[in-house]
Order: sequence, then structure tokens, then C-alpha cells
Amino acid sequence: MNHIRNFTIIAHIDHGKSTLADRMLEVTHTVEKRKMKEQVLDSMELERERGITIKMQPVSMHYKGTLLNLIDTPGHIDFSYEVSRALKAVEGSVLLVDATQGVQAQTISVLEMARQFGHTIIPVVNKVDSQYARVEEVKEEVAKLLECSPDDILETSGKTGLGVPELLDAVIERIPAPKESSTKTFRSLVFDFEYSNHQGMIVYIRVLSGSVSKKDSLLFKIANKKFVANDVGIFTPEAQSVPILNDGEIGYVVTGIKEAGIASVGDTVVSEKDAGPAMDGYEKPSPVVWASIYPESQDDFDELKRALLKLELTDSSLTYEEESSGILGRGFRCGFLGMLHLEIATERLRREFGLSIVVTVPTITYEVLTKKGDVKIVYSPLSFPDDGEIAEVYEPWVSVHILLPSPRLQDVMPILYEHEGSVVETETFGDNRVALTVEMPLRELMRRFFEKIKTTSSGYASVSYTMLPNKKAEVTRLDILVAEEPVPAFSRIVAKHAVQIEAEQAVERLHKILPRQQFVAKIQGKAMGRIIASETLKAMRKDVTGHLYGGDITRKRKLWEKQKKGKKRLAEGGKVNIPAEVFMKMIQ
Ligand code: GDP
Ligand code: MG
Repeated sequence: MNHIRNFTIIAHIDHGKSTLADRMLEVTHTVEKRKMKEQVLDSMELERERGITIKMQPVSMHYKGTLLNLIDTPGHIDFSYEVSRALKAVEGSVLLVDATQGVQAQTISVLEMARQFGHTIIPVVNKVDSQYARVEEVKEEVAKLLECSPDDILETSGKTGLGVPELLDAVIERIPAPKESSTKTFRSLVFDFEYSNHQGMIVYIRVLSGSVSKKDSLLFKIANKKFVANDVGIFTPEAQSVPILNDGEIGYVVTGIKEAGIASVGDTVVSEKDAGPAMDGYEKPSPVVWASIYPESQDDFDELKRALLKLELTDSSLTYEEESSGILGRGFRCGFLGMLHLEIATERLRREFGLSIVVTVPTITYEVLTKKGDVKIVYSPLSFPDDGEIAEVYEPWVSVHILLPSPRLQDVMPILYEHEGSVVETETFGDNRVALTVEMPLRELMRRFFEKIKTTSSGYASVSYTMLPNKKAEVTRLDILVAEEPVPAFSRIVAKHAVQIEAEQAVERLHKILPRQQFVAKIQGKAMGRIIASETLKAMRKDVTGHLYGGDITRKRKLWEKQKKGKKRLAEGGKVNIPAEVFMKMIQ
């Protein structure tokens, strides 16, 4: 297997991974010139439109007698599960650092991940063509980070192609070939998959021993499901059938399986004859944020359900379950790995499936210890117990890494304070920069923390985070009542110290946008068993006496009385009609 090298390109977002991959495809003549376009590996419509990589993409190239299997990875923190899956399938990584930006927060976290997988790392300073490139300085930073000599760091430009052949030479020289396996029986790791309407599940595999061909009888080890390989192939980057996939190679197997829930990333696909155990797969990451998705019209419920099922077949980190809410009807509670993941997934539902959907305010997971001694995992405000039933609440914390120019430190400190963050480590980094490690509740990270840090630092700060164990939380459920009735879709979980202000803001907002009713209706915020904010929505006044000209005051009085009674009856019935637009405005 000395002729194979498997590797990934990892970097902070926008440091030029996909563009550099383009040049590799050209140098190795993998993609014909006329078919070449910018960031050719970003094939999803959304990826091309936004200029970001969402899904990893493998590609096989031939160079100087060597088979190079590259997996391009996404850079955004929400997609680090994709990165970790790619890392497990290969032996080494090209770590790119943008010469105009220097080392960024996500550079450090992807490097740590690659090290955990025991990767050989090739450090590269990219975009050296740019007039803003600070090649020598950035090399110093990278050398310090990797504890290597600046001479080991390569220089490339994905724009001009400078240094790309040398980088491919370094991949061949420095990255080890796949290890020789002791058995000839076919075993492989599933690191990704996709779904095709006529071919069923297509699994992306790294062969760990033996080989696989079309018509082989295979087995999903964990799912314990037998199937026959309808086809095997490699990525060029389009799928291309090959007669055989050998030990150490990367490619795909068409399973023909159309049921959901069988193929899973991290499963081991083996020859039917294999008797060994499943290998350690991937730990499925827990969702970081949850939001409910409802079809705008209940008629589309089944369609939404089918769409989610399909989406899950291309996005292994999506989680969802059915739920129903009085007014919005039937929908789904969905878990995501972060706000960008949420945004991308909902955008895909809208576009790829043409659905009109309502997405509620995202929340995180809480662990509630009740007075009865039960532990409840709560990821929807609706199931958050009343204060009286709660003994303790625990919430996720995060360790946030911020890299920023030292002079900006003073601007950023108040934001940390405002978000309950405490600095646990400060380190100077290169010339005039500091690396902060801050611990804070995940709940606070969700309150546009990244955006605020980015804005205050005029874009010079970069941020990444990792999850920490749960800590005790002082939070409570805030309910919003209209005409004495709680409106479930408006409930939320908030920090106790912020509940007063949140309640007032929500009540005021609803008061502004809710149309007047036939009767006087109170809008209230309730938390910890008390009403803590209140506004009164005046009744819409229909002039019932307008048609009675003349001065028959007794008759007018009678009518007014009758109207009052009617309103009282309506109010007792308590049914306030909350129009759909008001819902959208309040929950989005
Ligand atoms: P990725 O997020 O790491 O995959 O980065 P992309 O390859 O999508 O590139 C991000 C941006 O940097 C794009 O606007 C590219 O045109 C630009 N870019 C990429 N490589 C280079 C380079 O070598 N030089 C210059 N000047 N710009 C580059
Ligand atoms: Mg990219």
C-alpha cells in the first residue's frame, strides 16, 4: 500500500481549503480544465451560493505514481463533526493558515482534533500571493503553535497555484501510507453517506482490510443488516464505478437499502464472512440547540416528515422527534449542532423540498433534578417543570477560545461580563495578539455572543468553543399569558436574573402587535408562580348604538349593557384569536 496517501485539508473558515483543492485537482489532471470551476468540491447549491463548505467531499487523484485520496472539510465550528469523521478515515492532514489572517481560533481547534487522531500534519501558509500576506510573521506563529521549525512550513497560493506541486510532494514524503492489515477479509469504516432515490443508501467508506467488488455479500456490523454491493466506486469527484476497492483506499458502496435508520456513520461494513467485532465508530454528538419546525399549513405535515427523513439521510448530525403545539399543530422538535447548522438545515427544507415552515426560537438542553428525585432532560420550554417541582437545574457550559489583537481586549471585556463569562486563561500570541480562554454558559453563547465579539473587534477576533460538563443553573420558565391563558409557543427558559426584563419586553412586544379583541384582555408574563409583567389590551369598540339617532338614552344603555355582558362572556371563554403573523413575529 506504499502507493496510497490519504489526507484531509483542515483550516479555519475561508483560509482557502477548497480553492487549494481545486489547484490539486488541476495539477493532478483529475478534473478537465473545461469542467473546472471555483471551489469545484463545494457541489451543493447552498455551498456555492454562500461560498462555504458544509459537507466533506472526498476525491481521488493520481500523482507521480501515487494514489492521493483527499477529503476537503468544512471550516465552521458547527460542522466539526464532519471534520472529525474525515480525520478518522485518513492518516494525515494539511493544516492551512491564511497568510493575511494568521492563526485563528478554529486553526487551533482543528489542529487539536487532528493530533487526537495521531495525524501527521503538514503546516502550510496559504494565500502568499496576496498583497496583504505577512508570510514570515505567520510562519513564526505556526512554528510556535506546532513546535516545528519555520523551514518545515510550506508556502502556497490556491489562487495562482504556487507551491502546489511541492505540497503534493510533501504529502507523498511525509504522510505515512496506510498500515498493512493482518487479514485479507474485507472490513471498512463508514465515514459518511448519501441517499439516492433509485440507488438507496450510498456509504462512503475507508477500506481497512481486504477488498470489495460489485456483487459481494456484505454486512453492516452494528445494524446487523446484510446486503449485496450493487456497485463500488471512487470519487473523481463525481461517483465513478471501479471493479475493485482495495485495502487502504477510499470510495463508496451502493447498498440498495432504502429504509432509513440502517446505515449509520461509524458503522463497520464487512464481508458477510467476517467474524470480527465492529470497530469503534463515532460518538454521535449531542445537539447543541433545539428548535421546533412546523409546516405553515398543517396539510404539509406529511411532506415535512418525509423531508426530514430524507435530510437525515444526508446529514447524520440532525436529530428530530414529533411534537404538537395547540396553535401551530403538529410539527417536530429538532436538534442541531449550532446556529449555522440550524440555519442551513431549515434553508435546505425550504429549498430542496419547497416547504413553507415556521421555525421557533432555539433553546438548549437542561437537566432538571425534580424534588421527587427524577432527572429530566428538557429541550423544550413546554416540558420545563414548574419552579415548585424543581430541586436543581443543570445546564451545558462551554470553553470559548478567542484570539484577538491586544488593543481590542478592553472593548471585549464588557461583553464577556454581560454574558456571564469568566476568563480562565490569557496568553500572548505572536505580535500583539492575545488568546483568551473563557468559560460561560452555552445559554449565553446563544445570545448572539459571536456576533457581538466580531462586531466590537471590527472583525479581528476569531472564536471557537468546546463543550464542558454541565453546571448548576439559576434558570426558570417564563410563560406569557393572554386573557389568563398561557400561550405555550411563547414560553421560554431564561436566567432568573434576567427574567424580569425579558418578561417586560415580551409583554410589551405582544401588546404592540396583538390586534384588539372583542373584550379587554390582559397580557401577562408569569414566572416562579407570580405575574411579573402585565399590560392591558383595550377592547375593540364597536358602536352598537350608532344606528339609534335621537336621544333614547335608555335604549342605548340597554344595548351597552348587553354588549358588556357579551364581552364578559367572551372573556370568560378566554379565547383570544392570535393571528398567525403575531405568532411568527413573537417566536422567530
Ligand atoms: P475555505 O473556506 O477554507 O474552503 O476557503 P475557500 O477556498 O472557499 O476560499 C475562501 C476565500 O479566499 C475565497 O474568496 C477565495 O477566492 C479566497 N482565496 C482562496 N485561496 C486564495 C489564495 O491563495 N489567494 C488569495 N488571494 N485568495 C484566496
Ligand atoms: Mg471550503
